Amino acid sequence: MSNEYANPRNCQQCGAQIALQESFCGSCGAPYNQSSLMERTRLVSPKTNGNGVEMVRAEKIVKRFGSLTVLYGIDLSVKRGQVVVIIGPSGSGKTTLLRCINHLEKIDDGRIYIEGQLIGYREQNGRLVEDSEANIARIRAQIGFVFQRFNLFPHMTALENVIEAPIHVLHQSRAAVTERAMVLLDKVGLVEKAHVYPHKLSGGQQQRVAIARALAMNPKLMLFDEATSALDPELVGEVLKVMRQLAEEGMTMVVVTHEMGFAREVADHVIFMDKAVIVEQGSPEQIFDNPENERTRIFLGTIL
Ligand code: ADP
Ligand code: MG
Repeated sequence: MSNEYANPRNCQQCGAQIALQESFCGSCGAPYNQSSLMERTRLVSPKTNGNGVEMVRAEKIVKRFGSLTVLYGIDLSVKRGQVVVIIGPSGSGKTTLLRCINHLEKIDDGRIYIEGQLIGYREQNGRLVEDSEANIARIRAQIGFVFQRFNLFPHMTALENVIEAPIHVLHQSRAAVTERAMVLLDKVGLVEKAHVYPHKLSGGQQQRVAIARALAMNPKLMLFDEATSALDPELVGEVLKVMRQLAEEGMTMVVVTHEMGFAREVADHVIFMDKAVIVEQGSPEQIFDNPENERTRIFLGTIL
């Protein structure tokens, strides 16, 4: 690793900066304890702590764009630590459903709760009224969203992209955020690209930076919308690997994908949507090996 990329971590004993390749503090000589750092920056509690708490609960969601009904009575439950994969043909409403979950879209009917808290609305005298922007932003900040297009800021390095929101939205200290960002970039295999601008990164690398950027906000929930669809085929695997690792660590995830092998392997629950409704849902084995609905069978026939 060249010095250019040897970004500092802080000594747990004296606080001095330690270059990434060093395992001892140059200032006080204390060993740098990588495992305790990893423990401190663990993204979520282990999967065994999932204990069935509902992270997302959607009840009878209806969403219209003008006269077009895009979601029609969608119910969804995602428990803490669960990975729910949504599959379905283009135009079936998958992206809109994800956007409703973090209230990037207003819903026309139904309710969405994040950890038991209504998002977008609050109850007042038995009626639902629109929530304040500040409340919505507070809940939304706990939800990471990874898009098909990576949307990195082009004028910022990978590291700057990752630290931007924790500093400016969460008002965390630059030093602490930078330390954590380097751990996250390491996690997605890009610590050596920390000071590189997006245009010098491959699509797969940019998407991994985008994932690190979302994780830097310490989200309770990650939404992935076809995160690998814009990538050249040979770059898909490196992004799926990061997503798989997150799932194994117990991150709660809702994943829209056309990668059926990945879905089968990682999903706890698979939902097949078509034309604004959930047509069929169940375990990966049920959906992929024994789909009951004709529309599911036809869709899987076209994609597998
Ligand atoms: P998917 O992600 O499954 O391909 P989308 O949720 O993107 O589906 O879209 C569902 C339907 O809603 C499509 O018919 C799409 O054209 C329409 N749609 C999505 N966003 C908008 C919008 N902002 N305005 C009008 N129609 C939209
Ligand atoms: Mg979509």
